[in-house]
Amino acid sequence: MLTPVINATGVLLHTNLGRAPLAHHQDASFFNLELNLASGKRGSRQHAVGSLIASAVGAEAAIVVNNCASAVLLALAALPQGRGVAVSRGELVEIGGGFRVPDVMAQSGARLVEVGTTNRTRLADFDNAIQNDDVGLALHVHQSNYRIIGFTEAVSIKELGTLDVPVLADIGSGLLDAGCPWLSGPPPTWLAGEPAARQSLADGADLVMFSGDKLMGGPQCGILAGSRELIDKCASHPLARAVRPGGLVLSSLQTTILSYLNRDGTAIPFWRQATTPIDDLRQRADAVATQCAGAPVAVGVIDTMAVPGGGTLPGVEIPSVGLRLEGDMSRRLRFEDRPIIARVEGGATVLDLRTIDPSDDDAVAAALNTLT
Ligand SMILES: *Cc1c(COP(=O)(O)O)cnc(C)c1O
Repeated sequence: MLTPVINATGVLLHTNLGRAPLAHHQDASFFNLELNLASGKRGSRQHAVGSLIASAVGAEAAIVVNNCASAVLLALAALPQGRGVAVSRGELVEIGGGFRVPDVMAQSGARLVEVGTTNRTRLADFDNAIQNDDVGLALHVHQSNYRIIGFTEAVSIKELGTLDVPVLADIGSGLLDAGCPWLSGPPPTWLAGEPAARQSLADGADLVMFSGDKLMGGPQCGILAGSRELIDKCASHPLARAVRPGGLVLSSLQTTILSYLNRDGTAIPFWRQATTPIDDLRQRADAVATQCAGAPVAVGVIDTMAVPGGGTLPGVEIPSVGLRLEGDMSRRLRFEDRPIIARVEGGATVLDLRTIDPSDDDAVAAALNTLT
């Protein structure tokens, strides 16, 4: 059975736990999914949410598909039109779950033209491919879950933008705007260097592709945003129908995007959890520990490190606070009515407060009080 769980892992975007947590309610009701209310004629399911996304990232147009993998598949099927797609050898990424850029390209029918080397690729390598290999597109893929360090050189989206061919950017994580205008404070330092949709487009990408359920904090989906010409080509390709999202996803995504447009990051659970001040977490941890003073297993409060997860921001840690129990209690916690998913470290069980909703603190305390 799919069942709600308490994520005490400290991994904010835990792919096994559905990545971003979402509240969504929908009555059993018809809605104008493909009806243009103004004209009374058939409309596009992409239009309403697509326009909201486009304005959130500063694009001419946007469409939604099932996930970022299908966004890349669709773009590579619809756009090269027989010509090659140049991609740096340093960006032939495997994201996880078998999603490998070269394999996706092969499935799309696009002809991959690898340029540069694993550690160093220059703009001249792309230029060369355009001159000599009938390349019609450049693809930039964000190294979401790994880093190449040492003697390295990579071509930025800005540099790719100077080429004569359209630039596609798979930015993966779906940070909408590097300035994070939906947060009350400045962008968190742990976001440094993460590509954002708005800035990638401003830098010269003609089309960006990203996930809806990573740093965007929405439902599972993939988004393509960019020039109207390229978006229209993707939207009218036969594969677009095969990877189109359902109405449930679109209306949930609309809620998320409206929160961004209203600059209300607190309405997006991912951002709320990611930016909770550490003092709040400590207070909550102390309160739970106090409630558990007579628990059969001693409950301590410790400093921890949470992580963004979801294959984003490798090596990035977000300071957090946790509850510590001696021994491996993870199995017993999983057998609670609302399973609690904890991590086990050095012979102790740790429940990280950053990924636990405050409304679940009492449930956590109750579970710890009955652990035997
Ligand atoms: C995560 C990721 C994907 C796959 O996204 P899904 O939405 O999980 O399909 C593709 N490309 C990059 C760069 C990613 O980080």
